[in-house]
Amino acid sequence: MSQRLLVIEDEPTLARLLSYNLSQEGYEVTMEDHGLVGYERASQESFDLILLDLMLPGMNGFEILNKLRGQGVVTPIIILTARNAEEEVVQGLKSGADDYITKPFGVSELLARVSAVMRRVSGRIEDEKNAADSTSSMISLGQLEIFPEKYEVMLGGLSINLRPKEFEVLLYLARKPGVVLTRDDLMNEVWGFDYIGGQRTVDVHVSSLRKKLELDPESVHIDSIRGVGYKLVVNKKRSSHHLT
Ligand code: CA
Repeated sequence: MSQRLLVIEDEPTLARLLSYNLSQEGYEVTMEDHGLVGYERASQESFDLILLDLMLPGMNGFEILNKLRGQGVVTPIIILTARNAEEEVVQGLKSGADDYITKPFGVSELLARVSAVMRRVSGRIEDEKNAADSTSSMISLGQLEIFPEKYEVMLGGLSINLRPKEFEVLLYLARKPGVVLTRDDLMNEVWGFDYIGGQRTVDVHVSSLRKKLELDPESVHIDSIRGVGYKLVVNKKRSSHHLT
């Protein structure tokens, strides 16, 4: 069964290039050139991956990302960004994009990134199946409770809304509390060995994760170890009421 791709791109030449090359590669490609229409398709139909331009008529790519992630759509999304637009990349990753491609790009880079993201996601689904098989995979650290199979996090009994990649970063840190994990460890675990993006991706996700978790810095926080990486620190004293 071929994998379904949704491409939302309004520039006709680029749209044709994407459509042609992805179809040649064996993907079933759906094209949309309008932001709002593209968003509606993405939220109503099931795709294996979405390629998303940022500047679109009707609704821009950031709004589309935010709305899709906000409503729990976890389909991997690669954003198409302008050259030298670092802020676009950071904002896109923060909004829940899995990867980005800078225009103009070559066909081989495009295909490499699409298949890398697909492989990562299918690996993740395998991992989730395995995790669900074990009787209880819930992780409890002080006030922090993580439910890997449900992608759910509770802090002091309150549900914290995390994006999928933020969740995976937290889960990996939480499996080794107090242990320093390098950016490379996090890149490889969460994004995969073949991820082409820079380590900035890790920093962007840790920084947004911090903002969400440091609602109660006395309880849980992520320490930066300069030049090395990150570790999750849990204050056990605050959580004594959890222990019976
Ligand atoms: Ca455009």
